[in-house]
Amino acid sequence: MNKREFIRYSALLAGGALTGGAFISCNPGTGAVKLKRSDGILNLRFTPYTLQLKHAFTLSTSSRTTTPVMLTEIEYNGITGYGEASMPPYLGESHESAEAFLTSLDLSQFTDPFLVEDIVGYVDSAMQGNYAAKASVDIALHDLTGKLTGEPCYRLFGLNPEKTPLTSFTIGLDTPEIVRQKVDEAAPYRILKVKLGRENDREMIDVIRSVTDKPLCADVNQGWKDREHALEMAHWLKEKGVVFLEQPLPGEQKDDLAWLTERSPLPIIGDEAIQNAGDILTNKEVYSGINIKLMKCGGLSSALKMIHIARALGMKVMIGCMTETSCAVTAAAHLSPLADWCDLDGNLLISNDPFEGLKIIDGKVTLPERPGIGVIKSP
Ligand SMILES: [Mg+2]
Repeated sequence: MNKREFIRYSALLAGGALTGGAFISCNPGTGAVKLKRSDGILNLRFTPYTLQLKHAFTLSTSSRTTTPVMLTEIEYNGITGYGEASMPPYLGESHESAEAFLTSLDLSQFTDPFLVEDIVGYVDSAMQGNYAAKASVDIALHDLTGKLTGEPCYRLFGLNPEKTPLTSFTIGLDTPEIVRQKVDEAAPYRILKVKLGRENDREMIDVIRSVTDKPLCADVNQGWKDREHALEMAHWLKEKGVVFLEQPLPGEQKDDLAWLTERSPLPIIGDEAIQNAGDILTNKEVYSGINIKLMKCGGLSSALKMIHIARALGMKVMIGCMTETSCAVTAAAHLSPLADWCDLDGNLLISNDPFEGLKIIDGKVTLPERPGIGVIKSP
């Protein structure tokens, strides 16, 4: 029995012990696993939590030192799936809104957690918006179904864990001294992400270039307003070893963005303007690619659909995150074998992560082999 099989059997046996063997039975001789329908019900719980950021997170539009999150659990026959909603203030969700949304849900009407499309569909139609809160349910449900089958989510999605891309580490706007310190902290990463969109953009890049020659990606967070300036910067940034440019102009400036995408030597990636699948269709001529985040789109089910739509339209795919615990970051990482790039460092920007999950080894996302999304509570 190899390591993966051992982990899987351990999970199955734990499931059997907890459920009295009523839900899952496993034949160790043949390895055959049988899932039986059960009369269990889905039990949703949630706890507000506040992430403490290691460094103040400064974008072109705001700065903060904490992020509110909601930690969710869905329990079914003694097995618990973990989920999370991360709610940076600019997205409009909060502890209060997430509590109101999650309280309004009645998952006890479902007796089969494998009816993921039905359950996620119910959650999605329960109320408008609330995408992070919806993602917290979707993630917990995927974690639960993985644990019930004893398989990591990437296997349930049919994905090869060897194909995870390199991930970037974000260097926020700061003084040259702090920027140098952040670049040192990012030593395990082979790509760095730089936040631009202020007066000192060139200085920031020059400071980073004075301490490292690693490839960079640049995220402007809608901070520029002028397309000619954006094009000039795109050429300059390409010379400085930048590989793509994220949301250089406000999403509403569609014509300017399309003009830029046509001329830019760097791929132009939409982030703030691309929340969900519908936004891809209305922006297919505007960007070269999209940045998918579970907290924007409502979870793994929606993110997977967005990836397929973007690919069908010939667009690049990036998977990103907010400042999040290892729970949501690791969940997103399970889809990363389908991405060109990923930016999954949100858990490393906080000092009070309650979970352990994905690892970054030689700059590459390395998925846990444990069932479900594979996170465990930190000791
Ligand atoms: Mg971005």
